[in-house]
Amino acid sequence: MLQRCGQCGTYNFFPKPWCIECGSRDLPWVDAKPSGTIYSFTVSRVVAMNYPAWERELPVVVALLNLDDGPRMYAQVIGCAPESIFIGQRVVACFEPLGSGLVIPKFRPQTDESSSAPAGQR
Ligand SMILES: [Zn+2]
Repeated sequence: MLQRCGQCGTYNFFPKPWCIECGSRDLPWVDAKPSGTIYSFTVSRVVAMNYPAWERELPVVVALLNLDDGPRMYAQVIGCAPESIFIGQRVVACFEPLGSGLVIPKFRPQTDESSSAPAGQR
């Protein structure tokens, strides 16, 4: 979900108390398209910021994504070899449980199957 301005329709990300375009405080949460395109990315082959939980995931790909609804966000790209990732690649969201009901959005390369499956089944 993303905040979408009720006055001008702009999607706001990160969440904010007012619209980045018109200043309105009418920012309901709406369903967002779970897909985007890689704008840029980096591959980390060492643990970042001494955070040991990343060690089991190395190498970690962190990408700057253009979401299909407009906002740009950072996210981890998983489910593929880092060498196969490229700028302009289509990706779809998947949600990794962190425990206590929390999930983190990550992205996988889009395949023919992932582009046609309902969002909850990816
Ligand atoms: Zn607005």
